[in-house]
Amino acid sequence: MSRAMQPSKRGLLVTGAAGFIGANFAHYWLREHPEDRVVALDALTYAGNRESLAPLRGHAGFRFVHGDIRDEARVADLLREEALSVIVHFAAETHVDRSISAPDAFIDANVTGTHSLLKAARAVWLEEGLAAGKQSGKRAGEKACRFHHVSTDEVYGSLEPDDPPFTEESRYAPNSPYAASKAAADHLVRAYHSTYGLPATISHCSNNYGPYHFPEKLIPLCLTNCLRGRPLPVYGDGLHIRDWLHVEDHCRGIDRVLARGRPGARYNIGGGSERRNLELARALCAQLDRRFAERPQLAKDYPDAPAARGAPSASLIEFVEDRPGHDRRYALDASKINRELGFAPKHDFATGLDATIDWFLNNRAWWEPLLKD
Ligand code: NAD
Repeated sequence: MSRAMQPSKRGLLVTGAAGFIGANFAHYWLREHPEDRVVALDALTYAGNRESLAPLRGHAGFRFVHGDIRDEARVADLLREEALSVIVHFAAETHVDRSISAPDAFIDANVTGTHSLLKAARAVWLEEGLAAGKQSGKRAGEKACRFHHVSTDEVYGSLEPDDPPFTEESRYAPNSPYAASKAAADHLVRAYHSTYGLPATISHCSNNYGPYHFPEKLIPLCLTNCLRGRPLPVYGDGLHIRDWLHVEDHCRGIDRVLARGRPGARYNIGGGSERRNLELARALCAQLDRRFAERPQLAKDYPDAPAARGAPSASLIEFVEDRPGHDRRYALDASKINRELGFAPKHDFATGLDATIDWFLNNRAWWEPLLKD
């Protein structure tokens, strides 16, 4: 029996599944919905790492496909062959600094890539009506499928310290090429819903943290640099504010949107944990110092860490020149998803950060090969 014929509830195409959030989502989904199938599509750019999916190797409901979302024909074939009725779209270029130095890749992956996926979904689900089975026809296909686009709070631009958080009604004002490319993708998703009736939803999340986070992003960068005795670069005055969402809460929020969200709607998924970058770096250093004090083996494992010789990890903090166009503050009003879909994050930031530090300490073999120097 081919995989596409195996009896199961739903087949999901998860794009960017070898990246940070996509990998966490694949793990989450098959844990919470073991009867479903996940086809993970990823181009394996520098940010993609098959090792993040290693625990799913051999899982009957999991298949990895090395491919590009811009390959519309390939995506359409996958939707048909595997009878996939849900797309959860994470694949993107995501690092703001890279979007400033080399924006073209962001337009290619985030705008053209999203458009390719939309075209494939429209062709297979709406034109061919295959998602609900060949006999079910176009309207049934429309009802049975869902295109979920994972967007960011950065499309809304920057807030002043006393501004209320962004709601789904806030106007788009992206400041970086990354944020602009995500905003353009959002507009295409919206247009495919309005014009062609593609059942699509969009979520905007705040900064995620947790396992499998690529060590160029703030939390894993600080953590791995602390362990190696390298400087902790903090942009400008360090007073930029971000809201932090544990990646597992993000996955739960998307699950809720897929289950109960209205096609055409957008939902903010916030963590309710605003922190200044400097405050975050210091909290992380303090938690790491406590770990070294409690576990003497860590000093042997990481002899270059200041904490190994009893010095504070925070001594590594260095202020570096600010990023151009650096948004001062992001914060999301997540009352809509709470009110309409009954979703609220479970992790508070202190315990979520604690668990993340433990994950990195226990999974050195995952992150060490990813370091450039
Ligand atoms: P990531 O950079 O860790 O992973 C992106 C993945 O996409 C990689 O595995 C990469 O190989 C893959 N990819 C890139 N271009 C591709 C293409 N053309 N075809 C197929 N695969 C491709 O990103 P992440 O942090 O996991 O973010 C996932 C999504 O969530 C992104 O859309 C991002 O904009 C959004 N988001 C992330 C955060 C965050 O805090 N990480 C916050 C808000 C929104």
